[in-house]
Amino acid sequence: MANKEDNLKAIISHAKEYGFVFQSSEIYDGLAAVYDYGQMGSELKKNIKDYWWKAMVNMNENIVGIDSSIFMHPTTWKASGHVDAFSDPLIDNKDSNKRYRADVLVEEFVEKIRLKTEKDVAKGIKKFGDDFDEVQFRATNPNVLRNQTKIDDINARFKTAMEADDLAGIKTLIEDLGIACPISGSKNWTDVKQFNLMFSTEIGAVAETANTIYLRPETAQGIFVNYLNVQKSGRMKIPFGIAQIGKAFRNEIVARQFIFRMREFEQMEMQFFVRPGEEMKWYEHWKAQRVKWHQSLGIDAKYYRFHDHIKLAHYANAACDIEFDFPMGFKELEGIHSRTDFDLKQHEEYSGKKLQYFDPELNESYVPYVVETSVGLDRTFLAILSSSLQEEKLENGSERTVLKLPAFLAPVKVAVMPLTRKDGLPDKAREILNALKFDYNCNYDEKDSPGKRYRRQDAIGTPYCIMVDHQTLEDNTVTIRDRDTMEQERVAIDKIEAILKDKFDVRKALS
Ligand code: ATP
Repeated sequence: MANKEDNLKAIISHAKEYGFVFQSSEIYDGLAAVYDYGQMGSELKKNIKDYWWKAMVNMNENIVGIDSSIFMHPTTWKASGHVDAFSDPLIDNKDSNKRYRADVLVEEFVEKIRLKTEKDVAKGIKKFGDDFDEVQFRATNPNVLRNQTKIDDINARFKTAMEADDLAGIKTLIEDLGIACPISGSKNWTDVKQFNLMFSTEIGAVAETANTIYLRPETAQGIFVNYLNVQKSGRMKIPFGIAQIGKAFRNEIVARQFIFRMREFEQMEMQFFVRPGEEMKWYEHWKAQRVKWHQSLGIDAKYYRFHDHIKLAHYANAACDIEFDFPMGFKELEGIHSRTDFDLKQHEEYSGKKLQYFDPELNESYVPYVVETSVGLDRTFLAILSSSLQEEKLENGSERTVLKLPAFLAPVKVAVMPLTRKDGLPDKAREILNALKFDYNCNYDEKDSPGKRYRRQDAIGTPYCIMVDHQTLEDNTVTIRDRDTMEQERVAIDKIEAILKDKFDVRKALS
């Protein structure tokens, strides 16, 4: 595929054509940054959720899962700081009338400088091969050093302005850097304004008594307000974690990046409650664990990188992102934050209820510290989809589009096909399918030539296709075709279950 933009277009159109993702209310021309998952997408999404839940809840004795409501008492959001501070700095270009996040404009500018260095490094490698000393080059090359100084200066100015809530300073920075609107090409910017991202609505039937409430912008607060309920009812001992998967809503300013940035999305979060003073140890622990989880999906390590936050959120004493090389470049996939005791202390103050833990080993009570891991389900979906979609040239000169999803996440695990619609082959195929459907989401397909059917299954990422042919009627064997190698193996029907069980065994990935 030609370039990143074309790449994203190809993914969006593949997602639509094969029933993964549709634009919401498409017949009414859609709703910006809201998407629906189709018959394939909802299966893939469910499988990602299950895999995360297994890894976080089932595999950890000291982590339990909950499912809290989207609506919460409005004071929750006052206490958490979201009413006053959950906003993004926005800026408009006066010529294109396009709206941008000021922080993202600066980040993208910095990324461009960084890419210059990467280009220089790549050139060096190409020119000198094994003789190229990359470490030495990065440490001494004047261009590289100049670029790094530039990046550090911009980051420092940006951090100072953001921390002081100096919106004019951010605008000046954008002007000084000469950042232009990608649409109009002009540098004619409005002032920077803060924009609160929470959606609000009213609860209660009678207008006069109705209260403004918010659609939760993160699932975490549902965990914090339930922390003591779970700790007591589950007799949990610190350190312990509470996990949850659920919808979150943000009135995002920029809504032009498919399911990367949505106004309604899903998060998979885990809050880990620890002794004060031990949070950095657990922060490092969860950073490492979460990277391992991502790598267990079998996606090449080159797609991932860490990014330490330069401006910490109001609640954090350490924070980083796991970034993924999406079709539009490296962007945040998951956040790992050491949130201190900020949230629980705030809820204590606003609710007037004690949220302390009595530590029997220390013989004292305290408000626990929290380390959180927060990954976007939709972004994980996009990461998996975009890195799995491949165009392959085959030996016979033809091409195929194949979605090389990790087998255990594939929406359809097995497709069962009769070679022809005659001679009782369909009945035999259905017999096999009926036995498999207790364990797997299966497809039955008898239309078109076998080649076409294989291509269709490749395009939705089905790892195995079982073909019932005339030999099946003679000796009770079928062929199993492997999506990635396209090789077909003849096996006895009574061996199919054991073979598939091994192929879809998620233990290898989890351990
Ligand atoms: P960004 O800087 O990209 O707006 P964030 O730092 O605000 O993200 P967090 O508040 O840390 O994001 O949320 C945790 C995770 O939730 C993110 O890592 C991301 O995967 C996911 N997420 C956040 N906002 C969105 C969104 N608008 N659409 C889809 N996923 C999102």
